[in-house]
Amino acid sequence: MQDSLVDTYGRRVTSLRMSLTNRCNLQCIYCHNEGESGSGKEIAVDEIARLARIASKYGVDRVKFSGGEPLLRRDLEDILRALPPLRDVSLTTNGTLLAPRAKKLKDAGLDRVNVSLDTMNSSRFDCITQRKGQLGHVMEGIDAALDAGLTPVKLNMVYLKGINEDEVEHMIEFVRGRPLVLQVIELMNFHGTFKYHADISALEKSLKARADDYRCREMHRRTKYYLQGAEVEIVRPIDNSEFCMNCNRLRVTSDFKLKPCLLRNDNLVNLRGLDDDELEKALRYAVGIREPFFKATPIAIPKKAEKATSDN
Ligand code: SAM
Repeated sequence: MQDSLVDTYGRRVTSLRMSLTNRCNLQCIYCHNEGESGSGKEIAVDEIARLARIASKYGVDRVKFSGGEPLLRRDLEDILRALPPLRDVSLTTNGTLLAPRAKKLKDAGLDRVNVSLDTMNSSRFDCITQRKGQLGHVMEGIDAALDAGLTPVKLNMVYLKGINEDEVEHMIEFVRGRPLVLQVIELMNFHGTFKYHADISALEKSLKARADDYRCREMHRRTKYYLQGAEVEIVRPIDNSEFCMNCNRLRVTSDFKLKPCLLRNDNLVNLRGLDDDELEKALRYAVGIREPFFKATPIAIPKKAEKATSDN
């Protein structure tokens, strides 16, 4: 392996988060769309494969696909088959199109999925996603992912004031004793949706008080709580310098640019049309200009910390 990709803040990049498309079949009221606004030609199979191969030489061993809705890409199985051997290949999806493809995706090399599930109430789901009648498909998608062994299936629940705060207990029951993990995510302010922002501290305090155990993951310093057979992880990106200081991912936009930070669009690095040598240089350059959005001095990992075993 070549030198690893370490930025000037000492953060090592080990993971690529690739947006495969800007298109989505839902329209969630709060969606950050991975911080993208561009609409160029979508990243091609060979572009993804070459970048992943070059990055893997530098110790990048995880790839997560996102979007838009990555399952709108008909060639997703081809993309998966074109990847070099990696430790963890995952996908974040709204789940609506997952059921018929879960097994094919697993066979093509996908390890696991995150499914967005803010609510299990269908009228709330329609309101949040601004589409009608999709919740049933998502639930079928979760079942199919479990059957296909795309586990652990992580359920991404964005915590929304006045919308789903009262559903956390129900979601905990849903994941209990199954290869499911609930990730409760603090809302980041996109599209002026901050009126839905709920402080997640009180929830976290109550989980901590009744948890059998908890672990602080190195990745984004997220804390994972174990509650009688249910795993619940709290993701708090807002104003969180620890979140940034422990970020190990580099983003790739759906039109093939490196994006060093979710919250910035002024330092994108174009990759289109580059040969392998140029791609390698661009990768190192993008890591070099990476900086934490919320800055602070690095903090030592506490005793209860564990090495990240999986990216989110
Ligand atoms: N369509 C796919 C999906 O629904 O998972 C992938 C794209 S979506 C942008 C990826 C994840 O970003 C979702 O699980 C959602 O939880 C999270 N997300 C989107 N907007 C967010 C926001 N404003 N604050 C926090 N998380 C957000």
